[in-house]
Amino acid sequence: MENTRSIYLDYNSTSMIRPQVIKVLIEAHKNFNASSVHQFGVEARRKINLAREIIAESINVDPDGLVFTSGATEANVSIINNSNRRLVVSNIEHDSVLIPSRQKSDTKFIEVDQDGVISIESLYKILKKNNGPYIISTMLVNNETGVIQPIKEIADIAHKHNSLVHCDIVQGFGKIPIDINELGIDYATFSAHKVGGPQGIGGLWIKPGVEFEPLIQGGSQENFRRAGTENISGIIGFAESVKCFSKKETGNILSLRKKLEKELLKVAPVYIFGYNQNRVPNTVYFGNNKITKETQLVSLDLSGIAVSSGSACSSGKVGNSHVLEAMNIESKIMSSAIRVSLGWATKDHEIDYFISKWTDIYCKN
Ligand code: PLP
Repeated sequence: MENTRSIYLDYNSTSMIRPQVIKVLIEAHKNFNASSVHQFGVEARRKINLAREIIAESINVDPDGLVFTSGATEANVSIINNSNRRLVVSNIEHDSVLIPSRQKSDTKFIEVDQDGVISIESLYKILKKNNGPYIISTMLVNNETGVIQPIKEIADIAHKHNSLVHCDIVQGFGKIPIDINELGIDYATFSAHKVGGPQGIGGLWIKPGVEFEPLIQGGSQENFRRAGTENISGIIGFAESVKCFSKKETGNILSLRKKLEKELLKVAPVYIFGYNQNRVPNTVYFGNNKITKETQLVSLDLSGIAVSSGSACSSGKVGNSHVLEAMNIESKIMSSAIRVSLGWATKDHEIDYFISKWTDIYCKN
C-alpha cells in the first residue's frame, strides 16, 4: 500500500498471517504426498497426524474426528447439503450455511433478538410443531456482531428433540476457550485464516459414531471423509497458528477493543450492536445516525485504514446486512454500520489513529 500508514482492522474477514506461520510454510511446501507408502509419504503422514493432534487438542476433541477441508465454507456445505435430515438454521448464519439451507424448501429459520442473540423461544416454536429428526445449525459467534450464542442450551434442546447440532465455530475459534465436549454439539466447522493461519484450509469435526455423508468422494484420504491429496502445507500452517493462541494475546485485544468503544462513545452517540451481550474480545460493530457506511469505508481507506461493513461487498456496492435485518435494526443505523475487528498484530497507536480519523470523518460530514 502507498499510504503513509496502513492499518488493518478487518480480522474477522481474514487475520493477518502470523510470522511463525510464514516461517513453517516455507519448509512445509517441501513435503510429499502423504498417501504414498514410501519414506517420503510416511514422513508427510506423520506431520499431518501431528498437526491434527495439535488442532484437536485446542478444542478438546479426539483427533480421529477431525477432517481437513479447504476451509469452513466447504465444511459447512458438507453438513448442510449432504444431510437427509430437514434443517433448522438461525437467520444470522454465514452465507455458506444460509445459501444451501435456502435451497431446501422445508428449512426452518430461527429468529434472533435485537441484540443478535439466537432466540431459544423461536427454536422451541419450530420444534414444537415437529419432533425432528433435524439438523440444527447455529453459529458459536456471529461474524458481524461478535455476539456469543447459547450453543450448549441449543444442543440440549436439540438432543431432546431427536436432532443433531452443527455449529460453525469459525469466529469463536482462537478468541474464546472452546471445549466441544462441553458444548455438546455433533459437528463443528472452522477455518485457519481467521486465526493467523493460511487461507484455503479448514476443519470439520464429526462426533464419533454420528452420521456423515462426504461431500467430496474419490479417494481414501481423511478416512474416506474428504477425498483429495491433503493440503499438507496448509495443515502444518494451520497447526502452527493454533500453537500461537494465548490468553495474554486475547486479553490485550480485549483491552484495545474496550478503549476503542470508550473513545467512540465520547465522539458520537454510536450504537454498538450487542453491546451488553457476551461478545468475543476483538469485534466492534457499530452504527451512527449521520454518515453512511460507504462514506466511512472510503474515507477510512483513503487514510490507510482497512475496516469493513459487516456484509459482503461486491462491485463496490455494499448491501444491507442480513444480520442487522434479522435484528430489526432501524434502517438509518443499519446503513451506517461498520465493523472494526482487531487481531494479534493490532497496536494501541493504531486504535488512536483510527479514532482520530473516524472523528474527522464524523465531524466533517
Ligand atoms: N463461517 C463464518 C462465521 C465465517 O466468518 C467465514 C468466513 O468469512 C466462513 C464460515 C467461511 O470460512 P472460509 O473462508 O474458511 O471458507
